[in-house]
Amino acid sequence: MLPFIRKDLAELTAYTPHPGGASGELAQSEIAIDRLDTNECPSDLPAQLKQKLAWNYQQLIETNRYPDGGHAALKAAIAQYANESLNVLPLNQGELGGVTRAKNTITADNISVGNGSDELIRSLLIATCLGGKGSIFVANPTFSMYAIIAQTLGIPVVSARRKEDNFEIDIEAAKRELDRTQNPPVRAVFVVHPNSPTANALTAEEIEWLETLSENILVVIDEAYFEFSQNTLAGKLHQHQNWIILRTFSKAFRLASMRVGYAIAHPELAAALEKIRLPYNLPSFSQIAAEFALAQRELLLATIPETISERAKLIAALTSLEKLQIWPSAANFIYLRVKASDSEPTEQKHQQIMQQLKAKGTLIRHTGGGLRITVGTPEENQRTVDRISAILT
Ligand SMILES: *Cc1c(COP(=O)(O)O)cnc(C)c1O
Repeated sequence: MLPFIRKDLAELTAYTPHPGGASGELAQSEIAIDRLDTNECPSDLPAQLKQKLAWNYQQLIETNRYPDGGHAALKAAIAQYANESLNVLPLNQGELGGVTRAKNTITADNISVGNGSDELIRSLLIATCLGGKGSIFVANPTFSMYAIIAQTLGIPVVSARRKEDNFEIDIEAAKRELDRTQNPPVRAVFVVHPNSPTANALTAEEIEWLETLSENILVVIDEAYFEFSQNTLAGKLHQHQNWIILRTFSKAFRLASMRVGYAIAHPELAAALEKIRLPYNLPSFSQIAAEFALAQRELLLATIPETISERAKLIAALTSLEKLQIWPSAANFIYLRVKASDSEPTEQKHQQIMQQLKAKGTLIRHTGGGLRITVGTPEENQRTVDRISAILT
C-alpha cells in the first residue's frame, strides 16, 4: 500500500459492476448473452430518437465548450415530470386540487441533477456525515451502493435486518440501532421504494416510521424503480424538509449509459447538493439525452405494461418450480431463493445456479442471500425459465 493513501481504503475492494460476468465478455462470446443482472430496460432507445440525438451532437453541441453547469433546462423538465407523478398517485389524492396543490408543486429549485444517482448518494453523504459528523443506517438486504460509498468516505454504516418472510424493515430493530448509535449518531437513513434486491415497496407502517424520525436525520427515499411501481412519496415531501427523493434515468428511461440521476427535495437541501457536486458533472450529451427522454416519455414508458405482464408470467412460471420461493415484485426485477433443504446450504446453491445460468448465457445477480433477476424481453424471460427449470430438475 502506498504510504500516502488512507489506511481504511486498504480494506475496500473496487466495486465490480458484473460479478456474474463482465458485459465486456460479450464481443468474444459465442452465444447471445441475456444481461439480466443490472435491472436495465431490455430495449435501446427507438432509432428515430437516437438519430435526433446524433443530429444534435453533430449540429448543436460544441465539444470544445463546457456543458451547461446549471442544468437549467433539464431541471425545469424534471420538475414538470415530477409534478405529473404527484397526480397519478393514490397516496396524494387527498392533497390534490385547490390550495394544497400549489403548496405541493415541485419547481427547478427542488431539483438537483447528478452523474447518476450514485453521485447524489455521495453528495448526500458528504453533506450529512463526512468528517465524523454522522453514521448512516440501512436495512439489509438493500442497494449496496449506500454502504460502499459511505465506506470510501470513512462514514460508519449501521444496519438492521429485514423480516425474512416479506422483507419489511424490522422497525423495532431499526429503532434500537438508531438509539444505540451515538458516536457519531445516525444522520441519514436510506430506503429504496421499492427495495432492491427484494422488490417490495414501503408499507404504510414503514412510511409511518419514516415520518416519526427526528428532523436531525435525513431520510433518503430512493425511487429508482418509480416508473414500474407508480408509487411515490413525492406528495409528502412538502411535509418533511428532512426527506429527499432520488430517481434515475438509468432504468425505465433506458439511459443507463448516459449517467443521469436526480433528487427532489426542499430547496435548501437541493442547494446543498448543488454546492457539493462538481461544477460540470453532466456532459452536454447526457443532458440532452435526458431532456429528449422526458420529451418522449410517453413513447419510452409505453413498454412498461409489457414489462409488468412479463414479470407476472416469469413469477408464475418459476413459482411452479417447487424448490424455489419467489416474492411479489413492484419493480422490473424479481427476487427468489432456493427453499432450505438438508442436502445443501442455500447460499451455495444460489452461487451454483448463478454460475450455471452464466454458462448458459444468462447473467443474474446473486445478492442479499438470494437471486435477483431482471425482467427482460419475452424471449429472454422464456430462456430464464427454461434454463432455471433445467438446472433445478
Ligand atoms: C439502478 C439503481 C440506481 C440508479 O443509479 P444510477 O447511478 O442513477 O445509474 C439507484 N438506486 C437503486 C436502488 C438502483 O437500483
